This record gives sequence, C-alpha cells and structure tokens, in this order.
Amino acid sequence: MSAPLRLHLDGNALVQNWQWLRAQGHARCGAAVKANGYGLGAVDVVQRLAKAGCHDFFVATWAEAAEIEGLIPEGASLSVLHGVRPEDMAQALISRARPVLNSMPQVARWRATGRPCDVMVDTGMNRLGLSTTDDLSGLSIQTVMSHLASADEDVDQTAQQLQAFQALAARHPGVALSLSNSAGICLGPDYHFDLTRPGLALYGGVPRREAAGQIQRVVRIEAQVLQRRRIQAGDSVGYNATFRASEPKELAILNLGYADGYVRGFSGKGSAENGLFPLLGRVSMDLTAIDVTAQPDIAEGDWVQMDFDLPAASAQSGLSQYELLTLLGHRFERRWS
Ligand SMILES: *Cc1c(COP(=O)(O)O)cnc(C)c1O
Repeated sequence: MSAPLRLHLDGNALVQNWQWLRAQGHARCGAAVKANGYGLGAVDVVQRLAKAGCHDFFVATWAEAAEIEGLIPEGASLSVLHGVRPEDMAQALISRARPVLNSMPQVARWRATGRPCDVMVDTGMNRLGLSTTDDLSGLSIQTVMSHLASADEDVDQTAQQLQAFQALAARHPGVALSLSNSAGICLGPDYHFDLTRPGLALYGGVPRREAAGQIQRVVRIEAQVLQRRRIQAGDSVGYNATFRASEPKELAILNLGYADGYVRGFSGKGSAENGLFPLLGRVSMDLTAIDVTAQPDIAEGDWVQMDFDLPAASAQSGLSQYELLTLLGHRFERRWS
C-alpha cells in the first residue's frame, strides 16, 4: 500500500553525522537508538551504523533490545539504559544485551547472575543512577557511565559533572568510561573518555553551535496534496478560523497532521518548499493547509516537502528537536536512500 505521506531518510547523512561525531576526539563512538531510533526506525538505523563500524548501541528497554539484538554484529554491544527490573530478568538472561544498572536493587539482582553489565552513576542530574559511594563490588562492569544534564547550554554544571566523573574514574581502573551525549561530544575530547553515546546529532539534530553546519539533515517530510481549492477575501481556513483571507488565495490541503507528529505548534508558522508555501490556519489531526497561490501547477496528487530543518522547526513549534523527531508517527512510509 502506498501511503500519502513519506519520510525521506538519508542513510549517508546518518553515517556521516556519526563519522563527524566520532572524529571530534579519539573515543569509540556509539549510538543511542532508543525510542525506535528517535522515530526514524531503529532497525534501519542500526543496520546502517553497524555497517559503518559502530559497535556500541544503547536502548531504553528490553523490548527495544529484542527488536534489534539480532542485527548487532558479533563482538559489538547493546546496552539497556533503564537497567533490569524483576520482570525483565527472564529476557535479560537469554539476551545478548546487558543492563546499565541504575539502583542498588538492580545491582543486587544482577550481581547474583555473574554476568557483564554497565553502571550509570549520577553526577548531579538526579535522574537515573547509582550514587558515587554505592558499593559496586562483585559486578562484572564493562562501562561506567554518567550523563550530562545541561551540555547543550554554557553553564557551570557541566564542568562540575566532568570533575565528579573524573574522580569516579579513579575508583574504577581498567574499566571503560562513558559520559557524553551529542552535546557533550561538542565540548571536546576532555568529555569523551573511552566511549561516547550520541543520539540527537546522528539524526540531524544540532545540539550546540559547534555542530551547526557540520551535522547534516537526515529526515525530510513529504505530504501529498489531497485537494486544491480557491478561497475568496473574507473566507477562513481550518478549525476555529484562525486564518482569514484578505484577498483571494489558492490552497493545497495536505495529508499530514498532528497525529503524524506535525504538531499544532506549526499552525500559522510552518511552511513547505523552503518557505514558498506558508501554512494557513491550524494544523488538524490528519490535514494541513498551505498557500500555493504562488504555484499554479501544484495539483491533487502532487507531493510537497515540508520545511523541517530541526533547529528552525524547534524554534517555530516550541518543541525540542528531540520531541519533533520522536513524535514522527506510524503513518509515514519511511523511505531510505
Ligand atoms: C538518550 C541518551 C543519550 C543520547 O543523548 P542525545 O542528547 O540524544 O545525544 C545518551 N546517554 C543516555 C544515558 C541517554 O539516555
């Protein structure tokens, strides 16, 4: 079946973004592929990055691990960031993935298995993680991790977390260390340690100014025109009539809406084809209207590309680049090139 809305996904851009991130230092560069590869499709992302030489993959849950573990090359690794709950143990014991232990109950649960694990230690984010003083003896730890809370900003917290992590590293000689997400990588090699864990920037997000102009777009949204219509001066468009025409206009109604992750924040602000076609009125669940007065040729059945440069789209919509990616829905046909 051919869907009336498509995501064009650029596999070369994905790989080149990973290569750029890797080239910022000397650490191994992994890939966060949780949330279905940030909405792009974890299977396709893992296949491409594994082929490019990526050896370290991160998901949030065991269900996500199960989806991709068959694709992880021999000798490569898959870590489950949320650790292991009692109800995960059966799957965890037959999985090739290993848990990232976050709490002392998780540590106790996993210690008894004698199997390899990673640990997440909190250095100030106060999200998931063990404390720096917790007793981790008896574990077979592959990687000690921590996570930066504010690396996308210029604030003191980041250097404080770096110091705390360095102190922690001294307590784990010979164990691999991993601190940085996409934004942390942009802060330079001091933050890279042995292994980095980018997500956002792989997929075309720009986490900090250092990455602007370096990170390539991976995702393009295309929607099909379902109808072309003419409106007169005084006519309104869409729910709640938030747009009213002051002159006659030609509209194209697109098969795309907030149920696809094209969020209502684009209402009255978004556009298509590099600004040529401004969005008119509200984004509906499944439909969006654009002004195609400038282009008499656009007709029912044609395709238009939405303007979805992530930093700009984030500013427009009021959502983070992360949300814009992970909200991309199931109705798109995902086409990789
Ligand atoms: C999601 C996540 C990452 C990736 O972060 P980005 O900001 O998308 O690069 C890295 N580490 C952990 C622990 C994460 O949860």
